[in-house]
Amino acid sequence: KRLSVAIDGPAGAGKSTVARQVAENLGLTYVDTGAMYRAVTWKALQKQADLHNEEEITRIAREADIRLTPGQNGMDVWVDGKKVTEDIRTPEVTSNVSAVAGMPGVRQALVEKQRQMAVAGGVVMDGRDIGTHVLPDAEVKVFLTASIEERAQRRFKEMKRKGYSVDLDQLREEIRRRDEMDSNREHSPLRAASDAVHVDTTNRSLEEVIQTILNLCRT
Ligand code: C5P
Repeated sequence: KRLSVAIDGPAGAGKSTVARQVAENLGLTYVDTGAMYRAVTWKALQKQADLHNEEEITRIAREADIRLTPGQNGMDVWVDGKKVTEDIRTPEVTSNVSAVAGMPGVRQALVEKQRQMAVAGGVVMDGRDIGTHVLPDAEVKVFLTASIEERAQRRFKEMKRKGYSVDLDQLREEIRRRDEMDSNREHSPLRAASDAVHVDTTNRSLEEVIQTILNLCRT
């Protein structure tokens, strides 16, 4: 079995950028599990499903054919053959995803897909519950954090770059709310695994953070 790397942490800590580059560097497959929860949320919104109806949303999660493929700028995300890479990053999806991800049925369906993607190892997987629940036997576990201010600033720049008009205070509040929901849900909440290495990315360059994680992978 090849190496499995789990990268968890709150919203905006830089998980996806870091995980993607670590995977590229080591020749492993990057799996963005947040994109999968976003894909289910997108499909539910698209179908105008009742976002409080767990049975209905769970069915959508089970039936959705979700694929992650290498794209131009990072990974492309596909749902039932449609490319939704950008559609899953809208403020509407972002503000509803934690409610969808809080449903045990949805989590069960997606965790099953995630474990299938990792059976042979050779993955860097990022999310909230990878080290604690999805891949408890991962050889390397990282818990990536940054101050709320830094995370809000990063999201602010990212959203502006994508052409959204956003308000920094509102963004900070959104991140805080999402972290709170992700940390307080009953089913596999956002937590650092007891054997995870904590890496605080506040005031540290991307290069430094990637090097730190690559070093953990080589020992
Ligand atoms: O990583 P990202 O911010 O795109 O994740 C979006 C949302 O998906 C998170 O706020 C969380 O509610 C949910 N999520 C989760 N478990 C994961 C990955 C993401 O609950 N493993």
